[in-house]
Parts: sequence; structure tokens; C-alpha cells
Amino acid sequence: MGLSEYYKDDIERVLISQTDLNNRIGEIAMQLDKDYKGKNLLVIGILKGAIFTITNLLEKMQKNVDLDFMTLSSYGDKVRSSGSIKLVMDLDRNVENTNILIVEDIIDTGLTMKWLLDYLYKKKAASVEIFTLLEKKEGHKHFVNPKYVGFQIPNEFVVGFGLDYGQYYRNVPYIGVLKEGVYKGE
Ligand code: 5GP
Repeated sequence: MGLSEYYKDDIERVLISQTDLNNRIGEIAMQLDKDYKGKNLLVIGILKGAIFTITNLLEKMQKNVDLDFMTLSSYGDKVRSSGSIKLVMDLDRNVENTNILIVEDIIDTGLTMKWLLDYLYKKKAASVEIFTLLEKKEGHKHFVNPKYVGFQIPNEFVVGFGLDYGQYYRNVPYIGVLKEGVYKGE
């Protein structure tokens, strides 16, 4: 079947609506304002998947935060993890004694976040917490414990709100499940 020109033709169903995403991220923004009151905070967005979550979160937070980005890649092909992490774009700053909040799109096996936590603690960050928009609870092989979780989802491959399939579908404004036909022949 391949990819359609319009994303809607390829979406089987909406898993999480735009309204639910907005509301939940709003709750987390309020919680973060409270938890980091009186503390410095560096938000690190993980590109590219977390881009919608970061902008949505930051426009709702009232705290004055510092923002940076990293690019990590773990997926070897389009739907399966390669099992190894590649640091594609690093921070260009010293994070010693800094409180860090990682903003991630989804935790599946936990390998990416496990790697990043180790990396940032080696750089002597004061604290590192994770906000992941989505968490596949069944997927965890590596122990990671995100403090802030948007939604727990079943073990299905999802796209939208920044998450891709073969670099497409990131601009789907909700979290959706792809039609099976899109994967066929891959
Ligand atoms: P982990 O290292 O936890 O296994 O995988 C995390 C990364 O895998 C995410 O940042 C994301 O890029 C990708 N990933 C895992 N599950 C999904 C999914 O259902 N949909 C999409 N689009 N990416 C996923």
C-alpha cells in the first residue's frame, strides 16, 4: 500500500485525542511549576519525536526555564529498536550541578532513557528526571522510572504528535495507530 499523500487515509484509529493530550500536558506543567519552585531547571528535549510535547509543555509552564536539545537514535529500522544508542547531537554546555528534566516522546524498552540517565549523571548533573508523554509498560526491559508520565499505552506502534513512521506522520495532531497495510511489504 505504501504511504498515502494525506495522513488521515493511513490512520486506523485515534488513540489519544488532541484535547486529552492538551489537558494532560497542562496538568504536568502545573506539577512541574510546583516541583521545581525555587530551583534552576534545564529542560532537555529529545529530538525529533518530543518536539510537539516540548512546545506544548513549555507554553503551559510559568516557570522560567532554560531549554536545550539532544538527538539520540535507537531505532534500527522503522518499527523495531536496534538495541544500541547513537548520540547524533550532543549538548554544547556544561550541566554540572544543574537540575535536568528530560522530555521524551515515548519509552518502550527503556534503553534510550537508561543510556541518557547514565550519560547525564556522568556529567555530574545535580538531578535528572524524565517526563515521557507515552509509556509502553509492557515494553520495559531496562529499568527506568520516569517521574512524569502522560499516558500508559498498549504495546502498539503509534504515530503523531511528533512520533514518526519512516520520518512521516509527525504532523498528525493526535496519537494514532497506523493501518496494518502501511507496514505490509516492509
Ligand atoms: P526505547 O529505547 O525505550 O526502546 O525506545 C524509545 C524510542 O523508540 C522512542 O524515542 C521512539 O523514537 C521509538 N519508539 C518506541 N515505540 C514507538 C512507537 O510506538 N512509535 C514510534 N513512532 N516510535 C516509537
